[in-house]
Amino acid sequence: MSNFRRHLDFHPGTDPPSFTTAVDDVLPDGGVVLSESWCYPKGGGQPGDTGVLKLDGESIPFGEVTATNAIIHPVEDPTLEVGDEVECVIDGARRNALARMHSAAHIVSAVANERWGAITVGNQLNQATSRMDLKFENRELFDKDQLSEDANYWVDNDSRIHVHEWGRDQISSDDRVRNKRFVERIIDRVGGEDPQLRMVEIEGIDLCPCAGTHLSSTGPIEGITIDRVQNKGKGTFRINFSLN
Ligand SMILES: [Zn+2]
Repeated sequence: MSNFRRHLDFHPGTDPPSFTTAVDDVLPDGGVVLSESWCYPKGGGQPGDTGVLKLDGESIPFGEVTATNAIIHPVEDPTLEVGDEVECVIDGARRNALARMHSAAHIVSAVANERWGAITVGNQLNQATSRMDLKFENRELFDKDQLSEDANYWVDNDSRIHVHEWGRDQISSDDRVRNKRFVERIIDRVGGEDPQLRMVEIEGIDLCPCAGTHLSSTGPIEGITIDRVQNKGKGTFRINFSLN
């Protein structure tokens, strides 16, 4: 699809610019497909963008964007028609909050892996609070205060955040890649002649595949508070966290 996942080309994923494009399709349930879209579609634990489509001075709000084999902008009462030229304005405050949260989540995941060998088995990000399920080799060793200290060390460090497009060789030869066997399986599934993965690097602490939106450095996270820790069984804790 011509409109597919354009947001991936942008880093940092904050302050998304508006764009003008044409309506490609209006689905029976009100979903609008644009010929190009830079909206983030719900996925990987990160909620999708919302915003407005502007046409002839009229603002038509769209709900959380999703992706199937196209990027869908859900509109409640679509008066739009195929071929209409619209300006798409993404809700920047929501996007910025989610990018900040996503970068924070990478830190929490990375420091738990670094200190306890914990593997992230699920996560749901929101603008104010998020949760992450961490599976421990030995959950008894987990220490909430230590997690908070480790995470905030990397926030205070204002580490730079980079996005790379890497092939299999580069991924295989870089010892900083976490859960390397898992990552190699992902890239093997991408297929094609020279498959590439979008790798997000937080200097000094994290390097992993990710399609989400991120800050340019960790400083603006300001601070991570580890809230409730819930027992999810099978060596897993659900860590709830929020940002200062
Ligand atoms: Zn991510």
